[in-house]
Amino acid sequence: MQETAQEVFQKDQAAYLPVFNRYKIVLDHGEGVHLWDNNGKKYVDFLGGIAVNVLGYNYGPLVDRIADQAKKLIHCSNLYYTQPQADAAAKLVELSGLDRAFFANSGAEANEGAIKIARKYAHSIDPEKSQIITAWNSFHGRTIATLTATGQPHYQEGVGPLPAGFDYVHYNDIKELESMMSDKTAAVMLETIQGEGGVYTPESDYLKQVRALCDKYGALLILDEIQAGIGRSGCFFAYDKYGIKPDIVTLAKGLAGGVPIGAFIVTEAVAQAFKPGDHGTTFGGNPLACAAANVVLDTVPKPEFLAHVNDVSVYFKQALLDLQKKYPSLIKEVRGTGLILGAELTRDDIGRDIVNECMAKGAIINCTVGKVLRFIPPLIITNDDVDEMLTILDGVLAGIDA
Ligand SMILES: *Cc1c(COP(=O)(O)O)cnc(C)c1O
Repeated sequence: MQETAQEVFQKDQAAYLPVFNRYKIVLDHGEGVHLWDNNGKKYVDFLGGIAVNVLGYNYGPLVDRIADQAKKLIHCSNLYYTQPQADAAAKLVELSGLDRAFFANSGAEANEGAIKIARKYAHSIDPEKSQIITAWNSFHGRTIATLTATGQPHYQEGVGPLPAGFDYVHYNDIKELESMMSDKTAAVMLETIQGEGGVYTPESDYLKQVRALCDKYGALLILDEIQAGIGRSGCFFAYDKYGIKPDIVTLAKGLAGGVPIGAFIVTEAVAQAFKPGDHGTTFGGNPLACAAANVVLDTVPKPEFLAHVNDVSVYFKQALLDLQKKYPSLIKEVRGTGLILGAELTRDDIGRDIVNECMAKGAIINCTVGKVLRFIPPLIITNDDVDEMLTILDGVLAGIDA
């Protein structure tokens, strides 16, 4: 029997580790870019499971492929080959311009692997070449190494000692990065577009200059595209938009359209740092997850799919700029590209209320770092969906502005 929302809240609050500041709805099912809660209330979704549900909900080809694969083989050990995994790896290698892929189960795990292989590679050049430079305001995950890589001290409080060898620079400040680098730098690790930290895009030539500094000091460039990759920027890999290539790129979130997966992809030179036995995973890249990833990898990179992302983005960003013009006392800046857009509020005390009121009126949006409304919807949204969400947001902002 289906329980009421109250019953689910109570059961969950008694049994689940209380680490999430949850909104009080119980989601039940979805279709396209809409979600329904267990009271039958409908929401237009501009969070997309945090940039995960790139093909929306109940997308036929994805659901069918998962069901077909589940009937054949959900899991087997990585001690054996499977075609879904070989297919997914081959597609990622082809799309990335890099040489070898490894599958994990999450973003944090993908970044752990990237950090580990970068250290191992650097160690083979010089045992003291171990410094990893990341950016303030970044987000790389919640495991001990990745929260150390994350340049937001509040994620690191109370869990030390943290792994050594991480330093931080301001994103988009090339001079500071140069002052921090030396031939002891193993890697520079950046989000191609900062997501969790408030939607910050790289300034014009920043990433090209970062690439040049990495080449100068023999450091690897690790790009974390866990949020910005998989078509979200309007290019399949966001680095394609900025005209550079990393030595390592990490993916997760949207890669399998909602089935847990992570990946890191490396150049052949970096790949050589790992010998058989140096890394592994029980679940990572299992046939179920890879079957789902193959649907995403056959769909999102298509020129017409990416063109759609870019078209909706132009419409959406302009509409956000119009909203800023209408509510200059509430919206300070509109940022972002593709379908990773942000509207920074002028105050940090209204974000959660705005999100809650939008939810009450049938729109799911997100607020990150307390004051940036972040829009990372399914990539299949249309201009009409944008209108539906923004009509609700407009009404909520009008209530606050009054
Ligand atoms: C979400 C995210 C991660 C962590 O992914 P998990 O799957 O939650 O471990 C890492 N980096 C970036 C840029 C992310 O957005």
